[in-house]
Amino acid sequence: MTKRVLVKFSGEALAGKEGYGIDTKILKFIANEIKTLIDAGVEVAIVVGGGNIIRGVSAAADGIIKRTSGDYMGMLATVINGVAIQEALEHIGLEARLQSAIDMHEIGESFIVRRARRHLEKGRVVVFAGGTGNPYFTTDTAATLRASEIEAELLIKATKVDGVYDKDPNKYDDAVKLDTLSYEQALTKEIKVMDDTSIALARENGLPIVVCNMFEEGNLLAIIKGDMSLGSIVK
Ligand code: UDP
Repeated sequence: MTKRVLVKFSGEALAGKEGYGIDTKILKFIANEIKTLIDAGVEVAIVVGGGNIIRGVSAAADGIIKRTSGDYMGMLATVINGVAIQEALEHIGLEARLQSAIDMHEIGESFIVRRARRHLEKGRVVVFAGGTGNPYFTTDTAATLRASEIEAELLIKATKVDGVYDKDPNKYDDAVKLDTLSYEQALTKEIKVMDDTSIALARENGLPIVVCNMFEEGNLLAIIKGDMSLGSIVK
């Protein structure tokens, strides 16, 4: 069984049916899923996105807001989501610590890898927010980076889909789910797992990535226990 895992939740996943903002029912669901991992003795870190609130590229689309400023707005959005996830985890009795890549001492700890590791060893869930702290990156890259830094054995990208397909399943009826793919395959342009920066970093650090449907109850724990058929694995 995996001992230390990092789970990446996109901002969009938190939005629920509304398509924006934060649905507390989803927060509760996520917290309960994380609890099953903690109860099984797994050390869990989380990276959260911000797409339910704002994304740099869209904010800067008409040129009024500069891309870099839009990206900082996006990073701030991830902190809002991080606070929400921390609350949901504590609400069901877990211990959680929010660490931000952008210093915000009143809201959370600064990102300090040694401190994060110590929290994990003590059974606390560490929620990493603020992305990488740099514009032009994504929270997927932040997830790969933090997973590598804390020496997680596995990165789970928790999504709305059950895995990676050879082509867009929304467009093609004959799209086939790939159970296993190499980093090289994940870098080809037809395949959308994560952006190239995050895949390249995962390859360099030998970090396996599982893409799975987070809305199926019990999926995360089953994957941690080794049932990779519930998603697609990039390794
Ligand atoms: N962002 C950034 N640097 C990072 C991570 C995120 O500038 O290291 C910004 C970027 O504008 C991005 C936004 O924050 O669009 C929200 O993150 P992302 O789009 O990755 O969220 P998700 O798609 O997972 O909800």
